[in-house]
Amino acid sequence: MEKKEIMLKLGCHVGMSGKEMMLGSVKDAVRFGANTFMLYTGAPQNTKRKEIAELRIEEAQEMMKEYGMDEFVVHAPYIINLANTVKPETFEIAVEFLELELARTEAMGSNTLILHPGSHVGAGVEAGVEQIAKGINAVLTKDTKVHIALETMAGKGSEIGRNFEELAMIYDKVVHNDKLRVCFDTCHTSDAGYDIIHDFDGVIEQFDRLLGKNQIAVFHMNDSKNVPGAGKDRHENFGFGQIGFDALMYIMNHKDFMKVPKILETPYVKDPDDAKKSYAPYKYEIAMIRSGIFNPDMQKDILAEIK
Ligand code: FE
Ligand code: FE
Ligand code: ZN
Repeated sequence: MEKKEIMLKLGCHVGMSGKEMMLGSVKDAVRFGANTFMLYTGAPQNTKRKEIAELRIEEAQEMMKEYGMDEFVVHAPYIINLANTVKPETFEIAVEFLELELARTEAMGSNTLILHPGSHVGAGVEAGVEQIAKGINAVLTKDTKVHIALETMAGKGSEIGRNFEELAMIYDKVVHNDKLRVCFDTCHTSDAGYDIIHDFDGVIEQFDRLLGKNQIAVFHMNDSKNVPGAGKDRHENFGFGQIGFDALMYIMNHKDFMKVPKILETPYVKDPDDAKKSYAPYKYEIAMIRSGIFNPDMQKDILAEIK
C-alpha cells in the first residue's frame, strides 16, 4: 500500500534581533526543524523598530528558499490597542504603528500580519469594535497586499475577539474586509469556552457560519494551563496541558487546514537549577508532533541534552 506523505506546515515563534535580524529568525527555524515560522519585527512589548534596510531580508529569503520554506507570518506587538476609545493617543499610536508594520511585513515577504483585535478598557464591546474597525479602515486600502489576521482571544480583561461573533462584527465594519483573515489560537479558543477538545468540527462549523473557514490563515497551536472556559490565556507545552496531545493532533492533521501554517507559541522549559535559564522547546515539540507520538518525558529530555 502506498502512503501519501503530506508535509505539515509546522513552525514556531522565533526571535528577530541583534545583527542577524531576519536571517537569524530563519536560522532558528531551521535549527528547530520547522518549515514555517512566526516573528515579531522587534520586542513584542514596545514599538522600537529597525529600518527595513537593516533587517537582512534578502539573505533570509535566500535561506528560506534553500530549505524549502515558502511561507512565514508576522505578529504585531501586543501593546497595539486599536480598541482604545479612552485614550486617543493610544489609538493614534496604534494606527501609525500598524501602517508601518504592514509595510515591514510586505517588505519581508509575508502575506500575514497577526493582530490582537484589542481591549475596550471598559467602554464596551460595541464601542471597541467600532474603534478597531476605524483603525483598520485607516490603514487598509484596496491595494494593500498583506492580510491582517485577527487573533481569536481568550477573553481575559476586556479583550475583544473572545468569540467568533465579535470577529464577525469587525469584518462587518471593515471596508476592505477581503484583506482580513483570522489567526485561530487553540489555547485562546479553549480558554474562551469553545470545546475544541471533544468537538473541533462543531466549533469549526460555528466558525464557518459566521466567518467562513477559509478565513483561517494561521493556527497558533498551544496547549493551555487552564480548563476550557477559564478565560485566562496561559499557554502550555504541546500535549502537556488541559487540551492534550490527541485533541491538538486532531487539529494539526485536519484535512480542511493542511495548507495552513501551524505555529507553536509554547513556553520555554525552565532550568530547575537556575531560575534565570530556560530553553526553547520547539525542536523537541516539532519532532514529537512529526512522529505523531506523545513523549511525556519531553521536558526532561530537553534538560538532559543541555546538561
Ligand atoms: Fe497572539
Ligand atoms: Fe497566539
Ligand atoms: Zn496567548
